[in-house]
Amino acid sequence: MLSVPEAQRVIREKIKRLSIEVVALADAHNRCLADDVRSTFPLPRFDHSAVDGFAVRSEDTTLASLDNPIELRIVATVKTGSAATVPVQSKCAIRIFTGAMLPPEANSVVMVEDVKIEDGSIYLTNPLKINSNIRRVGEEFPSGAICLPQSTKLTPAAIGLAATLGASEVSVYKKPRVGLIITGSELVEPGIPLDSAQIYDSNRFALLAALAEIGIFQVVSRRCVDDEAAIHRCFEDVLDLCDVIITSGGASVGDLDYVKPAISGLGGTIFFDKVSIKPGKPTVFATLNGKPVFGLPGNPVSALVTYLLFVKPALKFMSGDESEPSTTHVATLNGAIRKRSSRTEYVRAKVSRDGDTESVTPCSGQESHMLGGLVTANSLIVFDGEPRTLQDRSQVNILPIHWS
Ligand code: AMP
Ligand code: MG
Repeated sequence: MLSVPEAQRVIREKIKRLSIEVVALADAHNRCLADDVRSTFPLPRFDHSAVDGFAVRSEDTTLASLDNPIELRIVATVKTGSAATVPVQSKCAIRIFTGAMLPPEANSVVMVEDVKIEDGSIYLTNPLKINSNIRRVGEEFPSGAICLPQSTKLTPAAIGLAATLGASEVSVYKKPRVGLIITGSELVEPGIPLDSAQIYDSNRFALLAALAEIGIFQVVSRRCVDDEAAIHRCFEDVLDLCDVIITSGGASVGDLDYVKPAISGLGGTIFFDKVSIKPGKPTVFATLNGKPVFGLPGNPVSALVTYLLFVKPALKFMSGDESEPSTTHVATLNGAIRKRSSRTEYVRAKVSRDGDTESVTPCSGQESHMLGGLVTANSLIVFDGEPRTLQDRSQVNILPIHWS
């Protein structure tokens, strides 16, 4: 049985980045750049004022003091968006606004709050340093600089910078289209009355939400009874429409578990079908027509924990996201925990900070069907090694839960 890192490594070896497409900037949120975005002009594009005030020559203000206010005549105004062509003469000031182009000959801007304005003049009682309140051309990026390197994730800030550079479209990696196959004869769509032995299908909704968290909305989903031919048909239905298949349930070794036979029957290759993890032991990874297939266990907590550990990093990698998956860090355990198997347990827990120390409290409801525990959790305690008890105040490894 593979350990979690071994299983992650197997997956990583079998997946590839998707191809590239050009999308409008407005549609690029959360995508990853396939090319560098360079500036074609310096940023800022021209010298401009950082404040509302008056553009002046700083040398005119050298002798300014409370006893010796310096008078400068206001001779013109430059508004934001208008080219500044009139130079500032000595003993003069030009009214200027935040973002407006600095007039020729001006080398400083005094804030409107820092002057007295009277009869068409300003009076300064402090000398102004050269370059005060001026943003210089190219001070952030020269023309031709790589402002957004390939693989940058287009967060709101990155989208803003691309727009600043005038990019109306960007070259990004495609996001995987997902085929989602939910198996289980007991499952019913929420909203429909249940028979005595039926339950509502939660995994379809939970997994759709998890995919939405990483910006994947192209999902073809099918719900299907535990019947080999039906599951086989579902795979055939979705295979050509997607880049990745995720199944829920039916991945174990019971007589009604048809996910693996369906994958094999269609000529797929199964790389592993068990991972040394609790919850989530019967997790399958395969490829079918070169497309990754993740067979997640049906228990709702198992499905989401294995999604977080195996599927999310793979989908992000395929989308060109090079950010490292979350890593563990140490916190102090509140209460004792006990493990009975040698599989690595992922204990749903809540981390809280008290000054400099982080403590972590296991949530109630640790069974793999108890979603309530995962709802309250913000972290997973990674409890590995042989069966044992960890005492109160032990140092434990925790993995923060990040859906995106
Ligand atoms: P399985 O992995 O198919 O053996 O299912 C394990 C357990 O998870 C069973 O109790 C199922 O009823 C439950 N289960 C499977 N799929 C779902 C689902 N989509 N939503 C809620 N519970 C499920
Ligand atoms: Mg089932």
